[in-house]
Amino acid sequence: SSLANKLGVSAPDIIKKLISLGLMMNLNQVISFENAEIVVLDYGKTLKKSETRDISNFEEYEVIDDEADLVLRPPVITVMGHVDHGKTTLLDYIRKSHVAAGEAGGITQAIGAYQIDYNGSKITFIDTPGHAAFTAMRARGASVTDIVIIVVAADDGVMPQTKEAVEHAISAGVPIVVAVNKMDKPSANPDKIMQEMAELNLTPEAWGGNIPFVNISAVTGFGIDSLLDTVLAIAEVSELKANPNRYAIGTVIETRADKALGSVASILIQNGTLRLGDPIVAGTVYGRIRTLKNDQGVNIISAGPSTPVEITGLNGSPAAGDKFMAFESEKEAKEIAEKREIEAKSQKQKKEVVSFDDLFNKIKGGAKEIKVVLKCDVRGSEEAVKNALEKLSTDEVKIKVIRSGIGGITESDVILANASDAVVIGFNVVPSNITKDVAKEYGVEIRLYQIIYKLVEEMELAMKGMLDPVFEEKVIGHAEIRQIFKASGVGNIAGSYVLDGVMERGCKVRISREGEQIFEGDLASLKRFKDDVKEVKAGFGCGLVFEGFGDFQELDIVEAYTMVEVPR
Ligand code: GDP
Repeated sequence: SSLANKLGVSAPDIIKKLISLGLMMNLNQVISFENAEIVVLDYGKTLKKSETRDISNFEEYEVIDDEADLVLRPPVITVMGHVDHGKTTLLDYIRKSHVAAGEAGGITQAIGAYQIDYNGSKITFIDTPGHAAFTAMRARGASVTDIVIIVVAADDGVMPQTKEAVEHAISAGVPIVVAVNKMDKPSANPDKIMQEMAELNLTPEAWGGNIPFVNISAVTGFGIDSLLDTVLAIAEVSELKANPNRYAIGTVIETRADKALGSVASILIQNGTLRLGDPIVAGTVYGRIRTLKNDQGVNIISAGPSTPVEITGLNGSPAAGDKFMAFESEKEAKEIAEKREIEAKSQKQKKEVVSFDDLFNKIKGGAKEIKVVLKCDVRGSEEAVKNALEKLSTDEVKIKVIRSGIGGITESDVILANASDAVVIGFNVVPSNITKDVAKEYGVEIRLYQIIYKLVEEMELAMKGMLDPVFEEKVIGHAEIRQIFKASGVGNIAGSYVLDGVMERGCKVRISREGEQIFEGDLASLKRFKDDVKEVKAGFGCGLVFEGFGDFQELDIVEAYTMVEVPR
């Protein structure tokens, strides 16, 4: 009947037409493309076959939206920084001051993200501060954040998690705004923060860099408007666009199981429009959207790009970071979810630890850069190892330490390495059992060293593996031409005697006459009597044919050589 609507005729008419074609169908059946084409042609129109692609792996499914369909969408922001520097207070302040109390009795419920209206512009905030969620999502291949706000307390300074947050944001390639918080405190020292952040390669705009720093107080609200203005300015430059006129696609932010409602999932729509009743697949589960609520707990019927919503109706709980996509029919959604489930299972079985070499092979094809997450026992060794590694960089292969720190190898190190295609190197430190498990799960190999030169040596070897191989010629033998046979088809055959070494099938040759080279090229065939052979050793006779050369004489000398890969 959707075909009938498009053609502007009644569905029963089409059924009649189909019956006249000998096809018994009812109104709800899905018509095949071929049959639809016949019907459509009958109405004097043509049907454009939509591309049939396997969209079960929709993470990689890239829809090319028509430029005309694209509209600006609100930016999605993640707040990161060290514990107690004020992330939660900031998110709460922004939410309270810019979100109208929910119509559902003023009770706002946390769904992992919220959207504000600021001077007529919408901004979406991911409401789980810290980089655990950010990296967990990145580790699953999800990138939901357009801009990262890094909160640093002005009365404290750059702390380990500040550094981690910076590393994550930089490695994700997301624009960064630094919010220097707690400016209401007498001990606030924003210059010190700028200094310390500049050391992490975040040079403030005020100092000629490209990172905006905004002084704020999440308690008094000081500077927060200018923080939001800054975010909007970046969003404007980024021209974030989406197409509301397509099936929704996005990412799961968090899920919970509810006794009455079943699986409840908070999701962020990244493109398209999600409607009540839409069949969707999220991760490996599926279902029809049974309820759709906005971030204020209000029931809605549809939601567009950059909107966080809470849904029910799925037949299970997807994981945070899983992608979701809406489909035309529940049948299709079910089939795709089932296919994905099977694939996920076999993936799990297949998943092995990526070895050092594998990793380098992986990078080999593309950018020749080795990224390293480095953990050391003491500050002194951290500096020494980092310097030693970075010194290994050549014009062809760069080594980049994307994180270095003191202490045991943590889950966070592994997740960062996974998200950034890096290797984890531990110097006089070890991973905990949990970290080992996580590394195994993500397929990240951890290399442990106690001696710098050993590390340098292995790194060098791995780098050589990444370089294009070097070949060198190796002379394998000499032969003397003693008789010339003319053969139709192959040209002249040099009846030769191997003086030393061997002649090998497929080798290269140089022919010389009285000390002067007259030919260099390939050996086309090697025979003993009438048979093709692999090699002929010294002291034996053989028949040689050269590729494109037959102008040899008796007593010419054939030098045979091969190209061998040599270590650099
Ligand atoms: P989080 O761990 O980064 O989420 O930090 P919280 O938001 O929980 O804040 C940690 C503590 O710092 C709390 O006691 C807050 O009240 C306090 N705090 C946060 N922002 C400010 C601020 O701007 N000024 C002052 N004086 N205290 C703040």
